[in-house]
Parts: sequence; C-alpha cells; structure tokens
Amino acid sequence: MSKSVPELLNPNLKAMASDYLYHLDINVANTKDTSDIQQRFGDVKVICMGGTGSRMRALAVYLSEVLGLPDSSDPQDLCARGHRYAMYKVGPVLCCSHGVGSSTFSVVLHELLKLVKYAGCQDPVFLRIGTCGGLGVPPGTVVVTKDAFNGLLRNEHEIAILGKRVVRPAKFSEEVIKDIMAYGVDAKDGFQTVSGNTMGTDCFYEGQGRTDGAICEYSDEDKMAFLKKCHSLGILNIEMEASMFASVTQKIGVKAGDVCVTIINRLNGDQVTIAMDQKHEFEQRPFLVVGRYIKKLLQQ
Ligand code: URA
Repeated sequence: MSKSVPELLNPNLKAMASDYLYHLDINVANTKDTSDIQQRFGDVKVICMGGTGSRMRALAVYLSEVLGLPDSSDPQDLCARGHRYAMYKVGPVLCCSHGVGSSTFSVVLHELLKLVKYAGCQDPVFLRIGTCGGLGVPPGTVVVTKDAFNGLLRNEHEIAILGKRVVRPAKFSEEVIKDIMAYGVDAKDGFQTVSGNTMGTDCFYEGQGRTDGAICEYSDEDKMAFLKKCHSLGILNIEMEASMFASVTQKIGVKAGDVCVTIINRLNGDQVTIAMDQKHEFEQRPFLVVGRYIKKLLQQ
C-alpha cells in the first residue's frame, strides 16, 4: 500500500501563514514552505508518548541502543524552553511526554499531529507507553489496548465542543495491535503481555471507583460491582488517556497503539503501594515490547 502524510481535519490551517506549536516551542514560520521542519522531523516514523519527561528520556536512550543508533546516550530535550513537555528525537523516533490525563495529552497530541503534517512524515505510528491499574491481571502485566472505553463504560470519547457534547468512536488500529502482539512479545520475557480493552477515565480517584480519594459517596460493594462490570466488558486495565487518544487518532486516520504495564490489581485494592525499584522494573516492560515492535516496523 502506498504511504501518505496524515490529512488534518481543519480547513483553517491552510489559511494560516505561520503556526507556532506553542507547547512544543516549535515555530512553523512559513506554512507554505516547511522545508526547515521537514529537514528536522521529516524522517520520523514513530511518535512514542508517555506521562513523564524522565521516562521519555529513558525510552529515547533505550531505543537508540535497540535500533543501533550512533551516540544517543545523552538526547537533548527539544521542548526544554517551553517548560511543559519534554521531547527527544532518536533517529526516526520521537519520544514525547504528555503529562497525566487526557486534557494535558490532547494539547500535545494536536501539536504533534500538526508537526508530522508540516514535516511531511509518511504513515507515522503514534504509541502511548504508560502505567495503569489492572483488572484481574497480576501487577507487571503489559496490556495492549483493543477498544478504549470512557468512564461511562462506553466505547467512545466524549468532549465538550462549543458548549455541545461531541461523541466520537475510540478504537485503536487492529494492524498495530496485531503487529505489537506478533513482534513485540517474547515468550521468554518472564511477564505476560495481553491484548484487551482499556478504560480511560477523567479522574484517578472517583472516576476509577477508588474509595481512598478526598471524596467518596459510594460503598465498597458499589465499587466492586463497577469493577466487575468493567471486567465483564473485557476491560483489563484502567488509565486516564486511552479513550481520548484512540478517538483523536481514529478521527484523523493515523495508526496508534496504547501499551501499558499494570502496577496494581484493582480487584485487590486501591492504593498503589508498589516499591519504587519494582515500579522501575515494571516500567521497562512496555519498553521491551514497543522496542521490538518499532525495530520490526522500521525494517519494513
Ligand atoms: N494509573 C491509573 O490511571 N490508574 C491506576 O490505578 C494506576 C496508574
């Protein structure tokens, strides 16, 4: 199949002479001639995104080793002056932080989509690498998302636009899921990687049915009934980004995948008490899976 540059769904962009990607601190000075942006970012094939800048830096260093790139041991943060997000480029891969939750993530996702468009990137793949709560799977399990549900247990994303409720479908690319499972997983990993549905909520506490937040107006039984209902929908993990991420990438028509490691089994409790050393080891697991997948993707 022939490759193509993503088509954005905003006719206003064509009328803009310049476009400052404010949170990335990247200025597209002339939208009619983006050769400088193409030179810097035109080779990008994969955009990895995760919560923190330090994790994205560690991923950049790891991927440079996996991909055999020369001297990327000290990647530079390309967005440092913006003080909002951190972004590293290692060969054809960008590693960019997105903060906690859909609202901070959607800001940088819009700007990254515009960046790949201005740079003329062909068929870029967007990946989120994160941590999450698990449902009925042991902590340390890596979950590759199929369908993304919102906190209302609907396989869609809901957003207020111009004072109206706009609802969009939230499905990840089947091809990306299939390829991550085929090329990213190694039977000798010593942990499980499974594919299942994910609930992305707007709140870590009440939105995820926790009873240990600052507000809780339901019983433990209500919580367990909710979590079991989630599980019956094939939901294996809960985080705060999947439904927005799936819906925006599906709407634009770019390939995307969400690969998260569980740091707690929510059927057993609410508090994340995992030791920091263990958490760091768990956080490496999606790196392994995604690293193998990206290596294979870049060989195609
Ligand atoms: N991230 C979440 O959103 N929920 C959890 O339970 C753990 C990590």
